[in-house]
This record gives sequence, structure tokens and C-alpha cells, in this order.
Amino acid sequence: MRSIAKIMATARELWPLYLTVVIGAVATSATALLTPFVIARATDTVIDIAEGRGGTVADLMWLAVILLIIALANSAITNVSGYFGDLMSVRLRAILSANYYRKLLRLPQRYYDNELTGTIISRLNRSITSITDFLQTFSNGFFPTVITLLAVLVITAFYSPWLSVLLIVIYPTFVWLTALTSKKWQVWEKQKNDHYDISGGRFSEVIGQMRVVKSFVTERRELDSFRGHYRDAVDLTRRQSRFWHTMDMWRRGALDLVFFGIYAIIFWQTATGQYSVGTMVLLIQLTTMARMPVTSMSYWVDMTQRAVAGSLEYFKVMDEADEPNNPLEAAPSAEVQWVDSDPVVEFDDVSFGYGDGDDLVLRDIDLTVNRGERIAFVGESGGGKTTLVNLIMKLYPVTSGTVRVHGQSVDDVPTAELRREIGVVFQDANLFSGTIRENMAYGQDDVTDEQLAVAARRANAMTFISHLHGGFDTEIGERGIKLSGGQKQRLSVARALLKDAPILILDEATSSLDTKSERAVQAGLEELMEGRTTLIIAHRLSTISTVDRIVTLRDGRIDEIGTPAELATTGGIYAELLALQGSTRKADKARL
Ligand code: ADP
Ligand code: MG
Repeated sequence: MRSIAKIMATARELWPLYLTVVIGAVATSATALLTPFVIARATDTVIDIAEGRGGTVADLMWLAVILLIIALANSAITNVSGYFGDLMSVRLRAILSANYYRKLLRLPQRYYDNELTGTIISRLNRSITSITDFLQTFSNGFFPTVITLLAVLVITAFYSPWLSVLLIVIYPTFVWLTALTSKKWQVWEKQKNDHYDISGGRFSEVIGQMRVVKSFVTERRELDSFRGHYRDAVDLTRRQSRFWHTMDMWRRGALDLVFFGIYAIIFWQTATGQYSVGTMVLLIQLTTMARMPVTSMSYWVDMTQRAVAGSLEYFKVMDEADEPNNPLEAAPSAEVQWVDSDPVVEFDDVSFGYGDGDDLVLRDIDLTVNRGERIAFVGESGGGKTTLVNLIMKLYPVTSGTVRVHGQSVDDVPTAELRREIGVVFQDANLFSGTIRENMAYGQDDVTDEQLAVAARRANAMTFISHLHGGFDTEIGERGIKLSGGQKQRLSVARALLKDAPILILDEATSSLDTKSERAVQAGLEELMEGRTTLIIAHRLSTISTVDRIVTLRDGRIDEIGTPAELATTGGIYAELLALQGSTRKADKARL
């Protein structure tokens, strides 16, 4: 329950709505409580008329009019407060969802390495829906009932203290009984949610990579696995429901017994002349009103449990540690004054492993990259090249040692400022749905058509863009699925060019291009690399023959550093790869 209160506190600005809903609940119950009194009065009047003790039919008609007015007022109040209840829940949803998204945007990359997109979405929807559903039920049903209940207790205490003692005893007992059975229920609920999360995660992956599914003809398998999860969920629900309803039958049986006692007391007290028939009618109506909440208690307990579980899930994400100094989190910093120092990037005895207990991917890296230098990284796939450049952007915290940019440790500079210094072309092009223009201008405010054209030309993307129907306004589909690998890469290069940052990272940026196209991009990049510090991870060695220095990595360590000419003769990895790629080229030529 504390977690639900905490949720409401996070949307503190909704207090006028909370208050309105509470007032509405009080008013609804107050009007509902008037009816039994009027009916009691009518009963006594009818008896008076029958026994000739006065009273007129006109009195009765007036009472009927009062009943009508009460009913109309009740309906009006119910609907007005229902409106505010809806408003409260939709606004709460908006606030909670935005907070959740904000949190997700603040979490470190590592969080996303370990979670499936679909799972995150399934969890988000479930937790927020459970909370808003709960509050809506709470305000529209539970709250008015509790108020009614309290009023009933007070009124019955006035006429028949024994009755209210009985009522006071049964409520806590039933809440306790319900809560007792809910432990088991909750375990099943958790298992069920796990099934939903796993299948949801898989679902969005499958939708996102439908080509792979189609080509491996795994439709049946994917569907069966999805169904399997739902079958298990149905099975759990069946057990939950059977258990719940069995318990509920016992509970209701016990309640019927209690109410048997209550009615017996009321009848006996009326027969022995302790109060009038009208009062008897009043008490029967009131106790019946008090009975309803007990029967719907299981529903509320169910709702509450879901909401508690949902808010715990919500806070589980909200309490995850942020990425240090995340741009959303950090106070808008005063422009960082980069001292345009030389060297631009330094690795000082850096070691790094992805997980706490994992093997180190990088060991004892010592490296300085000078201003305006072009430096290339070479090594076998999985050797840690991408990891190394990720550390410059502070995508992961180093395990030991220091990474410095412009002489400052990356831990000390605001993350946003650091990342604005770096233009990057990722190994996978990583585009978004939307148009080419939107993708190229991603993260920039005002990009003119001319700037777009220049960047597209430099990235050798202009020709293909101008051949597209919509030109720069062509939609490229989710992650750019409507483009070829090489086209995506060229857009990704153009996007980095438009960012116009002093440090440029190219992670196998042209690996999907044919040699001719690669040459053209290369020429554009040459121009761009002028005056910038560039780190290149190359797949084809021909693209790095003109760099200033080459760093080779072996087993996570730096093996050699030197100019292309130097390393060609040392017999190290570079020379080895050079020989290999040279011979394949010769073989290709021979085949022609
Ligand atoms: P390269 O770019 O040289 O091909 P990477 O830097 O991508 O190599 O990967 C280096 C090693 O780190 C690989 O063994 C890979 O399995 C591991 N690795 C890469 N990314 C992650 C990650 N996000 N979480 C855990 N391990 C990773
Ligand atoms: Mg890589």
C-alpha cells in the first residue's frame, strides 16, 4: 500500500482532482444513505394510516417526491465525480508514463543490453494500467462504499449497539481471511506476468526481424512458443480462479451465517418492541448496504494486489541507478569550456569488462590520440574495437584506469557536452523510422536543405536519394528497413557529418559498401577529416592505408602501434591481414 501512496505522491500536482474525487465520494454516499431513512419513514406512515393513527396519502406522495430528488441528486453527483475520476486516472497515466520514459532515457546502456524491448513495454503497460485501474475503482466504488460503511456503523450503533459490534468484527475478519488466501494467488500472478513478459519480449523481436523469421521458416515455432506461454498463463489463471472462487464460496457462506444472526437480532428486537417497523426496515436496508462491500471485497483485494505489484514493478525501474550525469538528469550546465588540448583522446591504463564477474574485454590500454590525427584500429572480430570507442563516449564505465577527452577525465565532464564533441557512425547503421531528412538531421535543430545536400553528397548518398520517389522526404521504415545496407550506412555517415563534431568515430562505417561506393564515401570523408581527430575501425585495410597510425589489438591488449608502412613489415596482425586481403584480391583478379 505504501508503494501506491508513493505513486500518488509522484503525481502530487493532481491534488485538486484527488480532493474532488473524495468530496464526490462523500456526497454520493451521503445521498445514498438518505433513501433508507425516507423509506423507513414511509413504512411508519403507512402503518399509521392503516391503524388510523393519523398521516395522509399526501404525506406519502411527498416522501415519494423526496425519493425522486435524492435519486436525481445521487445520479448527478455520481456522474460528475465519475468524470473527475476518469480525468484523474488519465492524467495520472500521462504523468506516470512520462516519468517512466524519462527514467528509461536516463538508464545506462548496460540496462538495455540485458532487457528485451517488448518486455520493457509489457511491464510498463501492466504496471501503469494496474495503478490507474485501481485508483479508478477506488474512487468510483471502494471509497463511497467505505464511507457508507462507516455511516452505517454509526447509525446502527445508535439503534442497536450489538449490531454494530457484529459489523465491526466481521470486516477486519474478512479482510484478514481474504489477505490470507492472497499470498498463494500472488505467486501465481507473478509467474503469469513472467510468461507475458517473455512472450511480449519475443513478440516484438519477431515483428522487428520478420525477414529472418521468414527465411528460416520459423513462423510455426515462434507461434507455438508464444501460444505455449499463453497456455501456461491460462493454466495459472485457471488455478488462481479455482482457488479464489472456492475460497470466496466459503467466505460468503460464513458471511451468510453472520447475516443470518444480524437479521435474527433485528427481527427479535422489533418483535419485542425495542423499535418501530420503520426502524426495522431502515436497519435491514442499512445492513444490506453494509453487506455489499464484503461480497465485492475479493474483487477489491484482487485490484489492490495488482496495483501493489504494479507499483512495485514501477518503482523497481524507477529505483534503478541512472547513468552518471545523464543529460536529462544533469542541471543545464554552463557551456563547458573545452581546453582544446593536445592530445584529444587518452587511454590511461584502461581495463574493461562488461559484467562484474565477466572476463576483461580490454586490458591495460595506454594510448594517446593527437589533435587532427587519424588513427585506425585493427584486430580480429570480437577483439574489443567497438568496446574501446564506446568508452570514449562513456557508454560504459571503465573497470579501471582513466579515459580522457581534451585532457579531462570523461567521468568529470557533463555527459551531454562530452557526447556533443563526438560524431559517430555505428557499426550497424541504427536509423529510425521516418524520413531521410529526419534521420539525417537527427538531434539538430535547424538544418537547411543546402546543408542536407552537402552532407548527402559527401556521404555519396545524393545519387540514391535523388532517385527515390520522395527524395529527402522518403519514409525509410522501421530502422531503415526499406533501404539497402549500404544506403543505410551512407545515411548514417551523413548524419554524423551534419553533427559536425570535432572528434569523429567511424566504426566499420563503410563495411556494407561496394568498393566503388566506398571510394566515393572515402573521398567525402577525407575532406571531412581535415582538421578533425578521427578514430577509424576498418574492416577493409585498403581504407586505412592513409591513416597516421594504426593500433592493433590482440586478446584485449594493444599489440602494436605504428604507421601503416611500419606495421606492414613487422610481421604482426596488420601484416598478416594485409597478406590475407592481398591474396584474396589477387585471387579475385585471377578469377576475372
Ligand atoms: P569488435 O568491435 O572488435 O568486433 P566488440 O568490442 O564489439 O568487438 O566486442 C568485444 C567483446 O565484448 C566480444 O567478446 C563481445 O562478446 C563482448 N561484448 C560486446 N558487447 C557486449 C555487451 N553489450 N555486453 C556484453 N559483452 C559484450
Ligand atoms: Mg565492432
